[in-house]
Amino acid sequence: MDLNYSDEEQAFRAEVRAFLAENLPAEVSDKVRRGISLGKEGHEKWHATLNARGWLAYNWPREFGGAEWNAVQRHIFEEECAAAYAPRIVPFGLSMLAPVLQKFGSKAQQDHYLPRILSGEDWWCQGYSEPGAGSDLASLKTRAVRDGDHYVVNGQKTWTTLGQYANWIFCLVRTDPEAKQQEGISFLLIDMNSPGITVRPIVLLDGTPEVNEVFFDDVRVPVENLVGEENKGWTYAKYLLTHERTNIAGVGFSQAGLDAVKRIARIETANGRPLVENPHFAARLAQVEIDLMAMATTNMRIISQAASGQAPGVESSMLKVKGTIIRQEINDLTRRAVGPYAMPFASEAVEGDNAPIGPEYAGPVAAHYFNNRKLSIFGGSNEIQRGIIAKVKMGG
Ligand SMILES: Cc1cc2nc3c(=O)[nH]c(=O)nc-3n(C[C@H](O)[C@H](O)[C@H](O)COP(=O)(O)OP(=O)(O)OC[C@H]3O[C@@H](n4cnc5c(N)ncnc54)[C@H](O)[C@@H]3O)c2cc1C
Repeated sequence: MDLNYSDEEQAFRAEVRAFLAENLPAEVSDKVRRGISLGKEGHEKWHATLNARGWLAYNWPREFGGAEWNAVQRHIFEEECAAAYAPRIVPFGLSMLAPVLQKFGSKAQQDHYLPRILSGEDWWCQGYSEPGAGSDLASLKTRAVRDGDHYVVNGQKTWTTLGQYANWIFCLVRTDPEAKQQEGISFLLIDMNSPGITVRPIVLLDGTPEVNEVFFDDVRVPVENLVGEENKGWTYAKYLLTHERTNIAGVGFSQAGLDAVKRIARIETANGRPLVENPHFAARLAQVEIDLMAMATTNMRIISQAASGQAPGVESSMLKVKGTIIRQEINDLTRRAVGPYAMPFASEAVEGDNAPIGPEYAGPVAAHYFNNRKLSIFGGSNEIQRGIIAKVKMGG
C-alpha cells in the first residue's frame, strides 16, 4: 500500500492552499486562532466564500450541487483549513440535515431546502436533546399532535448550539406516546420564527453563549415539514448521528493543534531549556502524534466507505471517542505548556484592549481548553459510544 500523496493530490493541496491565501482574510484567521467569536455575519461570509468556489458542500453528491470529494480530498481540505485557521463550517444544515434530506426527504423538500442551505438563506440548528433526554434520547417528551394539516408542538429542547442565529430547527418530536419509545418519534422541520418559540441562551465555561434552550408553546407546523414517515424519526435520527460523530473526529483541528503545541514546547523556558526536552512531556507529545496518525488513516477509510454508499456504522462511534480524546489531550498539553499564562479564559480577556497577560500565543489556550470539554459530551457522550462499540463488537 502506498501511503504517499499522488501528484494529483499534491496539486489539489496546492490549490486549496492558494485559495486560502487569497480568500481567507487575516483578521478572520486571527480571530479563529485567538478563539474570538466571529458572530453570525463572520460565519455567513465564510460560508458564501466557500459556496462561490463550489467547495462548501464537498461531502454532498453532485446531483444535489455538491463537490463529491473523495476521502483524501476531504482530508487535505480539512487539514489545510485548520492549519490556516479558517472558520469551521457550521455543520447543522450542511453535514447533518442535508444527508438526511438527501436519503429520506421528499423531492419537494430536497428542492426547497438544499439550495437554501448552500446559499446560506437558512441557518439550521439541531433540536434533539431535552432536559432529561440526552444520553437517553429516545425518552424525549416534546410532543407533536396532529391537528388537520398541522402538527401542534409543545415542549423544550436544550443545548441547542448557535440556535440564536438559526431560522430553522430540525427536531425529534413524540407523535405516538403509546408506542415503544423509539417507535413513536418523528423528524420535523420547524421555522424558528413561528409564534410560540422562545430561545434562551446558556453561557458555557469559556464565557460564550454558544448554546441555548428552545421552548415550544403551541407551535403550529405544517404537515409537509415532516421528513419521511410519521413515527419513523428514530431511523433518520440515528443516520444523522453517524454523520455527526464522524465529523466530530476533527483530524485537521488536531493536526493544527499539535503543530501549535510543538512550536510552544520548543521555546526556551525560564530554566533555559525548552519543555520538549522534558521526557514526560515529550513522551505524551509523541504518543498523541502516533494516535493522531493512526486515527487519520482510520478516518479516511471510514469516509471512503461512506462515499461508496455505506453509512458509517459503529466506526463513527470509534472515531468520535478516539478523535475527541486526542483533541482534549492536545488542549491539555497546550495548557500545561503555557503554564500560569493559561488564565484569561473569558472571551473578554482576549478581545479589544484586554490584552492577555503573557505571550500572545497563550491568550486563547484556556478558552479552547474549557470550550473543548464539550467534545466528549455532545454527539452522544463518549461513555455512551463505548457502550455502543462494546455491544456491536463484543455482543455485550
Ligand atoms: C456544548 C454542547 C453543545 C451541544 N449541542 C447540541 C445541539 O446543538 N443539539 C442537541 O440536540 N444537543 C446538543 N448537545 C447535547 C448533547 O448531545 C448531550 O449533552 C449529550 O447527549 C449528553 O446528554 P446529557 O447532557 O443529558 O447528559 P446525561 O445523559 O444526563 O449524562 C450525564 C453523564 O452520565 C453518563 N451516562 C449517561 N447514561 C449512561 C450510560 N447508559 N452508560 C454510561 N454512562 C452514561 C454520560 O456519559 C454523562 O457523563 C450539546 C451539548 C453540549 C455540551
